[in-house]
Amino acid sequence: MTLDRYSRQQLFRPIGEQGQEKLKKKHVLLIGCGALGTSSAEQLVRGGVGKVTIVDRDYVEWSNLQRQQLFTEEDAGRRMPKAKAAEKKLKKINSEIDIQGHIMDVQREELETLIEGVDVVLDGTDNFDTRMLVNDVCQKHSVPWIYGGCVGSHGMSYTIIPQETPCLQCLLQSVPIGGATCETAGVISPAVQMVTAHQVTEALKILVEDTQALTGRFITFDLWNHHYTKMKVDRAKREDCTSCGKHPSYPYLLPEHQTKTAVLCGRDTVQIRPPYKIDRDLNEVRAVLTDGHIEQNPFLLSYHKEDRRMVFFKDGRVLIHGTKDVTEARNWYHQILG
Ligand SMILES: [Zn+2]
Repeated sequence: MTLDRYSRQQLFRPIGEQGQEKLKKKHVLLIGCGALGTSSAEQLVRGGVGKVTIVDRDYVEWSNLQRQQLFTEEDAGRRMPKAKAAEKKLKKINSEIDIQGHIMDVQREELETLIEGVDVVLDGTDNFDTRMLVNDVCQKHSVPWIYGGCVGSHGMSYTIIPQETPCLQCLLQSVPIGGATCETAGVISPAVQMVTAHQVTEALKILVEDTQALTGRFITFDLWNHHYTKMKVDRAKREDCTSCGKHPSYPYLLPEHQTKTAVLCGRDTVQIRPPYKIDRDLNEVRAVLTDGHIEQNPFLLSYHKEDRRMVFFKDGRVLIHGTKDVTEARNWYHQILG
């Protein structure tokens, strides 16, 4: 390592040499590696956070390149899984960091394993099902997590500290959090950067153990219209909250919340998960496909026929593009996989 790699960050007094040493020993888990995830990951890795784990279930598409900063045209052309494309790029940026990319749709079991030894979780997801799961797991394991979301030129962020602040479940009862439904309004890159600027700054405060400096406010902004608000939400914390209250039941960790089939937010896409863990041999899938257009890389196989496209992952998941109809998607799935 060149000695001055982190010099500018160490000169920043709240971090200093001591803070930098702390960062080296810390572990951040990023859920989702789209716009928010790639931006946060790059900042954390450049800043010298010792270990960064990235989880994402999707692959790179051309429409991602406008704002998902770690990806290239080659990644989109080859449909590289985001977790692996990001891992590769981040290792080139900073070879000193332990970077783990997992191609995975996080559910309870995966998340409860991944969270071990993690110091803070950053939200880079695009859907509330996953956020509520993250909220429950973080409460159960007492790990702070930082919510983030954006749409259009508008964004929001909030830092959730177990046993101290209200959790996402509490907030949903009292704060009008836009984006609780699937959004298709588009997004500009500066809104992404503004959200991750808040998320990563808050994460750094937690990682260097300067928790006094945390905002404690729910931040919302609209860059196009120059609005910025900081909302005090302490009173939103509920004693009877099922996630952070006196007698939590962690509802999102219950088996009935473990979805096998999901319509992906804002897209004509259905995801089907097999009911149990499998290691799918992509060559076997390829063997049963007699016509249509097939593309394959080491991680997935994409099959295109007429106006539908199916993407098979090695972990058994299939993404079915061209429909929002779960029954129709299941029919296509069974036509091919029996
Ligand atoms: Zn709560």
